[in-house]
Amino acid sequence: MPRANRRRRDDLPPLPPAVHRGGEQRVTWRGRTWVTRALSGASSTRTYTCPGCHHPLPPGTAHVVVWPDDGLGSVDDRRHWHTACWRARRGR
Ligand SMILES: [Zn+2]
Repeated sequence: MPRANRRRRDDLPPLPPAVHRGGEQRVTWRGRTWVTRALSGASSTRTYTCPGCHHPLPPGTAHVVVWPDDGLGSVDDRRHWHTACWRARRGR
């Protein structure tokens, strides 16, 4: 048997694949380069807090996940934003 039976107990699963029309984009914001990925609601299974408005992102909400592109980030640096809040973010 291959190692397929091994299950990681991480609470955070790998990021789901990018939504076709969204894909990944790199943007510079606040002096860092960030990768943004649009997620469909179907791939959202947890409740996150949007850093833009501090309101929750319930499971099933299409949104944008953002993380630093400098190699220093970890899953803890991912931020989940409402799509509209990310577009309207300040401090470009
Ligand atoms: Zn928001």
